[in-house]
Amino acid sequence: MRIVRCERCGWIGRETEITIPDHCPDCGEYGGLKLCDGEQEYSIDELRFLWEQFDDIPINDADEIDEEYMGWPVGTSRFDIWHWFDARWPKGVYNLVYEEGDLS
Ligand SMILES: [Zn+2]
Repeated sequence: MRIVRCERCGWIGRETEITIPDHCPDCGEYGGLKLCDGEQEYSIDELRFLWEQFDDIPINDADEIDEEYMGWPVGTSRFDIWHWFDARWPKGVYNLVYEEGDLS
């Protein structure tokens, strides 16, 4: 799964939601879309969105992803990605996995 963010309006979504190539589905601007990867900075809302998308990624019996996710290739350990979230989510990945990301 490839996830894209619009640098003009902040829209974030799956690449498959883009109906007109290189045009943001929300603001319609051309050329502002950028593929998301693990190197970029994300807001809390964006991290929550990214976590929700990760839920749709198939995981094999060896705890590896069976579909590309945000630039991580097939075969990446799910725990590497959990670690990535753990370093960024205010209450850690445990909160996302077991407490639905409740930050209250
Ligand atoms: Zn936009």
